[in-house]
Amino acid sequence: MLIAAAIERLYDLNVGTTPVQEGAPHEKPHKPLLLMAAFDLIDEGLATPDHIPWCQEIRDRFTARFNLVRKHNDQNNPDLPFRYLAGDGFWEPVEADGVTPIRRQILVSDIGKVFARLTDGFEFLVAIPENRRKMREALVARYFPHHAAALLSSALPQSAISDPLSPPAKVAEDEPESGRSTAFRRKILEIYDHQCAACGLRIKLPAAYDVSFIDAAHLIPFADSRNDHPTNGLALCKNHHWAMDRNLIAPCPDHHWRVSHVLDPRRSNGEADLLDLAGKKLLLPQDQAFHPAGEGLEWRCKQLIA
Ligand SMILES: [Zn+2]
Repeated sequence: MLIAAAIERLYDLNVGTTPVQEGAPHEKPHKPLLLMAAFDLIDEGLATPDHIPWCQEIRDRFTARFNLVRKHNDQNNPDLPFRYLAGDGFWEPVEADGVTPIRRQILVSDIGKVFARLTDGFEFLVAIPENRRKMREALVARYFPHHAAALLSSALPQSAISDPLSPPAKVAEDEPESGRSTAFRRKILEIYDHQCAACGLRIKLPAAYDVSFIDAAHLIPFADSRNDHPTNGLALCKNHHWAMDRNLIAPCPDHHWRVSHVLDPRRSNGEADLLDLAGKKLLLPQDQAFHPAGEGLEWRCKQLIA
């Protein structure tokens, strides 16, 4: 497996979202945090990709990050992702015999006994420090863009860099950037069910084609925000993506579209179509956890050509 493919899978972890009754809905942070804690342990020589122990160190590193990103009543329970990350297909928690998969609650009393191993190609990729760095950055861009500085700070252990036993950092065979943008696109199209948030056009070809007329647009461009969280995205058809990126139309914090005054309906029917969007509601996904963030909508509104 290539690093780009691994990053695509990290972008699509089955994290689950919190119910509306528990405050502002959001994705649960546990799985990406546990992976980052596991990478820490490997950096420090306390774990290897095929033996990541359930230990106090992994709980501590999980907790340190959890306290930075927790929202509302998120619970600090690293045992849950340690067990349930198994569902994502590359993490295998096993009993002390090293064989039997864990199908029960993991307890504090299991410390030092049970462990997990990476599988499905991740065990080879994660062995390389440079790949762990890229995967950490991808996890932060996708799940915690607003905490990038703290989560990627120098407080992280540096031992991997000076560890002579670590395999030399080798240049990845492919560009992780492409995995990142493909994964962002897939996630946005899934959330919006391939429908343009402006005109409602939906084109959903069979997955085998792997092409789409609907784009995943960033609200605040990735180059500026390093933010691939789905709340920094919007599904748009080619026309409306083009128009938004040229600041002729903008989605606003009240979840309605605004249009630029430079558009003149007498000049062309395309401009008349864009003007028709004024005051229309954004077509948003059901799950409020994925509604566009206010900051991105404000930013777009400010860019609109007056
Ligand atoms: Zn459209």
